[in-house]
Amino acid sequence: MKKIPFIDKAKAEEIAKTFPTPFYLYDEKGIRENAAKVKEAFSWNKGFREYFAVKATPNPFILKIFKDFGFGCDCSSMAELKLAKAAGFSGDGIMFSSNETPACEYEYASKIGAIINFDDITHIDFFEKNVGKIPETICCRFNPGGYFSIANSIMDNPGESKYGMTRKQMTEAFRILKGKGCKKFGIHAFLASNTVTEEYYPTLAGQLFELASELQNETGVLIDFINLSGGVGIDYTPEQKSNDIMKIGQGVKEQYEKILVPAGLKDVKIFAEMGRFMMGPYGALITRAVHEKHIYREYIGVDACAANLMRPAMYGSYHHVTVLGKEDVPADHKYDVVGSLCENNDKFAIERMLPRIDIGDLLFIHDTGAHGFAMGYNYNGRLRSSEILLKEDGSYELIRRAETLSDYFATFDCFDEYKELFEE
Ligand SMILES: *Cc1c(COP(=O)(O)O)cnc(C)c1O
Repeated sequence: MKKIPFIDKAKAEEIAKTFPTPFYLYDEKGIRENAAKVKEAFSWNKGFREYFAVKATPNPFILKIFKDFGFGCDCSSMAELKLAKAAGFSGDGIMFSSNETPACEYEYASKIGAIINFDDITHIDFFEKNVGKIPETICCRFNPGGYFSIANSIMDNPGESKYGMTRKQMTEAFRILKGKGCKKFGIHAFLASNTVTEEYYPTLAGQLFELASELQNETGVLIDFINLSGGVGIDYTPEQKSNDIMKIGQGVKEQYEKILVPAGLKDVKIFAEMGRFMMGPYGALITRAVHEKHIYREYIGVDACAANLMRPAMYGSYHHVTVLGKEDVPADHKYDVVGSLCENNDKFAIERMLPRIDIGDLLFIHDTGAHGFAMGYNYNGRLRSSEILLKEDGSYELIRRAETLSDYFATFDCFDEYKELFEE
């Protein structure tokens, strides 16, 4: 589908006057419209809840938007738990889907009443020894091994993934947990990432619903919820077709009626932990062209770099780029759009056909609302950008300031000349 930026050049320039580029901009209107659709798509299930994957966009202002929809938060670290707590989430509004978890994080999650999702059977013992009594509501993460396929095409390779318990361990874990007084059980699995197909959730749901029915028969536990986790993807390229969440919701409903209802499991709640689908399309990295270079290729240097948006460098991901104000100008120039890192993979676009770019032009890097800012880092001493929320009425609010050099140097307080670093 044609990629259209959610702001025009005039608005972007207006914002850039107050908050210099580069910055992340999030579109509150888009976020809310999509969240409402997600809610509607699963409204057939009374207990449905989306637990927004905090790691995708860890910002309390964003979390609060999802709170308005009755959603929860999915956390996997101490910082994410505290962020969720500070944004007003607690108790069963927080899902703790962690792995390789330190005891102190289980302890804090348990203290604030989060739903604990055990990644491994050995964590039952670990939790008891280091934290104490296992909560009455408990979840276990499943890994079926092998390949995960949809209609004969391989989507991902759970057999090589570090997450979850084997089929046999699931039965054993549920028996042990039942013996320890657990009352309500959940099943969780994340088997394929960024799936751009309406079949992923329904296929996964089918497998987990069969599993739920088997586990109930084998162990007699009460299955309270099934967590389909994340993995619902977005159309990063204009050639892809976006997922229709209404169809996905209906697909899960069909599996529910086909498998769970006949198994006598008609009150099971469906949970999701989507990150990318909730935020990806509703965020953009706005950056300015600051240099041009003509060697063996044509280069445009921008003021953002891979430290601000790692996905292209790390995964070779495509992010669509719009030159603001030149939306209707023919794309007749071939550019590599690059950042300033001393790393040749610091390229936002490679041999991309774009309109002619002039120094000072603003570039809108699409679909960076999830796993964008969040994966930022400080290589080459580059600093994290600000994050700005574009409100429904067109006003905008700084929701995280840009990092400064003193933030960068703050951890050198063990270095005596620390203060001098700022005196020049
Ligand atoms: C990353 C992650 C998610 C979110 O994944 P998306 O692909 O952004 O939807 C959800 N749950 C868990 C446990 C994760 O690790």
